[in-house]
Amino acid sequence: MTFDSIRHCREYVNLHALDRWQYRWETSTKGRISFEFFPDVFRRLEGPPITFSHHKSQVLTGHGNFGIHQLRLGKSENSLCPNCPDFDDDPVHRILECPLFREVQERIRESPEPGHLTSLRYPTLTMTKCLVHFPWT
Ligand SMILES: [Zn+2]
Repeated sequence: MTFDSIRHCREYVNLHALDRWQYRWETSTKGRISFEFFPDVFRRLEGPPITFSHHKSQVLTGHGNFGIHQLRLGKSENSLCPNCPDFDDDPVHRILECPLFREVQERIRESPEPGHLTSLRYPTLTMTKCLVHFPWT
């Protein structure tokens, strides 16, 4: 392969690295909760910076007071939601489905910022709303 310039070569290498990163992110078995929030490496890099707090980090990684994490730590015998025995207790379940959080889900839907729960997979604004309105602790 030949390149017109160093800049052209650099652009090619950067794009190739991003493609490789995206492929690895999509096919990994790790970080699947984070993947639900940030499925697209390109979009995340182009999006606004995220300031992480203790609780926000727990939600975005699933490493908080969720059944899936308690099971991993050996602090629970299962990962299931205490209210919905057919579903794992994870941040996505709480944001989208769990009736225990219906009131907060409605508040998120009705909040004036753009984005809806259904656009969770393309997230930053929606996630910001979730993180502001949700009682994560
Ligand atoms: Zn539930």
